[in-house]
Amino acid sequence: ATAVSLALTLSACGQSGEGGSEEDKGDSKGATIGIAMPTKSSERWIADGDNVVKNLESKGYKTKLVFGEDDPDQQVAQVENLITQDVKALIVAAIDNKSLNNVLQQAKDADIPVISYDRLILGTENVGYYASFDNEKVGELQGDYIVDKLGLKDGSEKGPFNIELFAGSNDDNNTRYFFQGALNVLQPYIDKKQLVVGSGQTELNQVTTLRWDGGTAQKRMDDILTSSYKSGRVDAVLSPYDGISIGILSALKSDDYGSKNKPLPIVTGQDAEVASVKSIIADQQSMTVYKDTRELARVATNMVDALLNDKEPEVNDTKTYDNGAKVVPAYLLEPVAVDKANYQKTVVDSGYIKESDLK
Ligand code: BGC
Repeated sequence: ATAVSLALTLSACGQSGEGGSEEDKGDSKGATIGIAMPTKSSERWIADGDNVVKNLESKGYKTKLVFGEDDPDQQVAQVENLITQDVKALIVAAIDNKSLNNVLQQAKDADIPVISYDRLILGTENVGYYASFDNEKVGELQGDYIVDKLGLKDGSEKGPFNIELFAGSNDDNNTRYFFQGALNVLQPYIDKKQLVVGSGQTELNQVTTLRWDGGTAQKRMDDILTSSYKSGRVDAVLSPYDGISIGILSALKSDDYGSKNKPLPIVTGQDAEVASVKSIIADQQSMTVYKDTRELARVATNMVDALLNDKEPEVNDTKTYDNGAKVVPAYLLEPVAVDKANYQKTVVDSGYIKESDLK
């Protein structure tokens, strides 16, 4: 019903609709689409931006792409600016999921449909559709990898093993889905004391990492090693993102982990960034979660193209993503767990990463 009402709103606003469809199609053809990405500090968002542009251009659209340097105010100003430049649709990967409400009202007033890209924008009705991955599944893959590699599955009574938990930025809606997904798998083992969180920090608000910053995570891992592991050793670290994993690994290595008598713990990750895939090949980071952002860009582009041509965007989930103002119809892609055993098949053979970049 939500999708339908959006389509109705759009046609009522004259963006599309019966009778005028010929003309409107002509309009949508050369239309400019605004794309707001959160940061250039991580490869994936640069690739996301490039792929969205490429896909839109191949469908005859013009594009304006901006990056927000992880600064919510800057992103708000950028989106405002795109609206005044007469874009016909917006694709937005939010930095702070709640800071865009006012500017999206401006988009609505200018009849500009908005696609929430990868990260759901909260607290506003003015988000038409959501293109993302199954975010809870991402966390489940990470949790599952840990219990599998520690040999805890299938009723084994092994343990206790020490684990530390890291989560993403608290202003990113994905963070709680990733963390919840991981806990779906880990919590039963924590309850049975086969997994012990040495620092005692188990609540989401104790383990988040503002703006997904690797340095912040490194500092927290340093502090935890000093305060909670004077004796005993960390066996696993739940990390939600490759940049955070690299920071965690630096802290561990400064504390002699990775030396002969002190093996590195299992460390998870996300995004299949080149530095982390290299780290996996070098037996440092254990795994990452690969999300094919080329596919995500395709999904978001198709949504825009459908909306501007008076069609219903394709969705495959209409109940999970409640943003507080409405349940946002979504298309969710499947994440894939990647480690040393399958990186070739998953990220290299698919062309996501060039073999030569891993040398
Ligand atoms: C994305 C992840 C990414 C993280 C940090 C999240 O919203 O879903 O893929 O690792 O942001 O950039």
